[in-house]
Amino acid sequence: MTMFSVGKATIVRIEETYQPVYSVKELFPECTDDLLSEHKHWLAPNHYDPGTAKVKLSVHSWLLQVDKQKILIDACCGNHKSRPTRPWWNMLDTPYLDRLGAAGARPDEIDLVMCTHLHHDHVGWNTQLKDGRWIPTFPNARYVFSQPDFEYFQKADVDPNTAPVEFGTFRECVLPVVEAERADLVTGPHRLNDHIEILPAPGHSPGHVVFKLESDGERAAFIGDVFHHLLQVYYPHWNFPKNSDPEQARTSRRMVLEHCASNGALVLPCHVGAPFAGHIDATAKGFRPRFG
Ligand SMILES: [Zn+2]
Repeated sequence: MTMFSVGKATIVRIEETYQPVYSVKELFPECTDDLLSEHKHWLAPNHYDPGTAKVKLSVHSWLLQVDKQKILIDACCGNHKSRPTRPWWNMLDTPYLDRLGAAGARPDEIDLVMCTHLHHDHVGWNTQLKDGRWIPTFPNARYVFSQPDFEYFQKADVDPNTAPVEFGTFRECVLPVVEAERADLVTGPHRLNDHIEILPAPGHSPGHVVFKLESDGERAAFIGDVFHHLLQVYYPHWNFPKNSDPEQARTSRRMVLEHCASNGALVLPCHVGAPFAGHIDATAKGFRPRFG
């Protein structure tokens, strides 16, 4: 089990999947063979699979426990959810909830579910299938969603040209939570409580946010998909292919890297491979990850 401490807070990674998915060129067309060999010494085996020549991505949640609250950050893909064009995340049947239980939280003990954004791989476990209906998986939790993301995906989901958005997961994993009156829509910057602040970091999606944590003078940042891979720390202008606004995504990435390099925050992304979290150092040329 991967566990981190930040002041009085503990943070555990809850794995859903961790596998080679995209070819390097498909993900980052800017990556030349020379650059790849320059970084090869740290890429394999955790961030790149030489056998398939594919980039390895993790899909995980973070279970944050602070002040007796159990907070789930980002909710992966979920079980039994259809993603016809993403075979490696299609109709999953993983023991994710057992792993969450082993990490110290049954579904009914989760106090808060917080989604950095509303893409399909961050909202999946918000709901589960019961008697043919999608109902909230965490019956006692409040769910914190970004209001700008909610409005953007809602608009696209009622437009016949773009519906259903995110493989239908807006309808399966977001709307049922809102209909059950368990959702709190927030617009950053927003202070959630003594420890957590919500900051806008748009571009990957219009309302993408990061969660800043502070406990006993130590800091962490749950950065969602501000970057998907550590190569993007070296090359912050490299975007993951899917963005609502590519230039805004680059600006947000630089802003978050700058912020974490200057205050020493533990950085917790959603898809970076083992050891899954670490720090950012500023260098003469830009930034360098210090993960493990
Ligand atoms: Zn993602």
